[in-house]
Amino acid sequence: MALYTKQALSIYNSLTGKKEQFTPIHEGNVGMYVCGPTVYSNVHLGNVRTFISFDMIYRYLKHLGYKVRYVRNITDAGHLTDDADEGEDKIAKKARLEQIEPMEVVQEYTVDFHNILQKFNCLPPSIEPTATGHIIEQITIIEEILEKGYAYVENGSVYFDVVKFNEDFEYGILSGRNLEDMIANTRELTAQSEKKNAQDFALWKKAGPEHIMRWPSPWGDGFPGWHLECTAMSTKYLGEEFDIHGGGLDLKFPHHEAEIAQNEAYCGKSPVRFWMHANMLTLNGKKMSKSTGNNIFPAEIISGNSEFLSKGYLPSVARFFIMQAHYRSVLDFSDEALLASEKGFHRLMEAISTLNVLKPSGKSSIDINAWKQEAYAAMDDDFNTPILIAQLFEAVRFINQAKDGKATLTTDDIEDLKNTINAFVFDILGLEDVNASADDNVDKLNGTVEMLIRLRKQARANKDFALSDKIRDELLDLGIQLKDGREGTTFSIN
Ligand code: AMP
Ligand code: ZN
Repeated sequence: MALYTKQALSIYNSLTGKKEQFTPIHEGNVGMYVCGPTVYSNVHLGNVRTFISFDMIYRYLKHLGYKVRYVRNITDAGHLTDDADEGEDKIAKKARLEQIEPMEVVQEYTVDFHNILQKFNCLPPSIEPTATGHIIEQITIIEEILEKGYAYVENGSVYFDVVKFNEDFEYGILSGRNLEDMIANTRELTAQSEKKNAQDFALWKKAGPEHIMRWPSPWGDGFPGWHLECTAMSTKYLGEEFDIHGGGLDLKFPHHEAEIAQNEAYCGKSPVRFWMHANMLTLNGKKMSKSTGNNIFPAEIISGNSEFLSKGYLPSVARFFIMQAHYRSVLDFSDEALLASEKGFHRLMEAISTLNVLKPSGKSSIDINAWKQEAYAAMDDDFNTPILIAQLFEAVRFINQAKDGKATLTTDDIEDLKNTINAFVFDILGLEDVNASADDNVDKLNGTVEMLIRLRKQARANKDFALSDKIRDELLDLGIQLKDGREGTTFSIN
């Protein structure tokens, strides 16, 4: 029986501001959409934090036995440099500055994004759709919204009419803003503005002659508004109503608010049961951000090549650091915090190695079942990874006690503890077993040297002494010494 049938998972819903019990719309299946990156530059560690948070959520839902369809998009068009629908497309701007095609920009940073997430052991989503791959779907939705009267065309662009929408629905429901207050607090529109109200947002923007990213539409050549792609791709792959929508907290308004309005205007339904927002990673107390330059990049974490770092760290250490904070809390990045996480991470990995060689006793002095229930309770309480990690360190404590003979565990309890710890540490928190990968590499190196020894033996048999000496000398240059003896050739690595 799937774990989800026996456990009650509660999730903090940003829409209601409360933790609510999670039950999916279709039993046993979860539809989850997470806003992906805008691929015009390398992702910084803040972006990575958000994607790691949702990776952990995806992993836990799968662990509970749900069949999860996880959709995470790539924004490759429509995201402007200015939130008020003015300015240049971020990707087009980068292409202009670098004098390359916009799709070259998209390719370069999509590849970088995938490489980085793989390094940080994030599972790929089930579907990774792109905005440019869904232009037709976006145009269809705009036509529908226009027909329902919640949008208007102005000079080749189409804008969502927030005031009209608010007469029939409620705009601001997610961010807790009220339209009258928003109107009162915004400056008057300039005479050049095509919008009726400052709160209106673009569904489609007319492309001027200089705009290189453009598609034909019933309103002339243009490009879709940023918010629309997520409505098009989420409804296409998850339906008009689905279980979970995630993103960083900074996307709550206006991006996610606009998504709700678009969906309601389009099909009369609020799209999402559970809105989830991951909090920000800060550096020096300020949000990490692509535009301000206050950020640190994953490559710097690994190499240690940064003014903020004393050394390089394993991606799993950075991931552990991220998991030590709750996904809804602000997390401040510092070298000291990473050093502390590194210590904790290695202590955990050592305990896992110890657990594998622990001698069983006839009786257990620890209640493993109670320990396990508490670990699950932490995750079931809105994915509380810091509490789970505290519980894992509780296990580290009694594993070390058992090693020192101060506690006892039966064979069954050791087995249960191993399975549970492996599930939490590797499958759910997504950490990587450094011992295992190091052992694995040692095996590969030994195998390679053995193979070269066999090739050298063959060369000698063929009287090709030049080749056999070359193999010996080049291995020596690499610090691997061959020793010929009566029993054959052995080697040592210096
Ligand atoms: P972007 O490519 O700017 O659209 O951002 C991709 C994701 O990273 C979004 O979900 C953002 O909310 C998230 N994000 C941006 N800055 C930070 C940060 N400093 N900490 C955590 N998440 C962030
Ligand atoms: Zn989005």
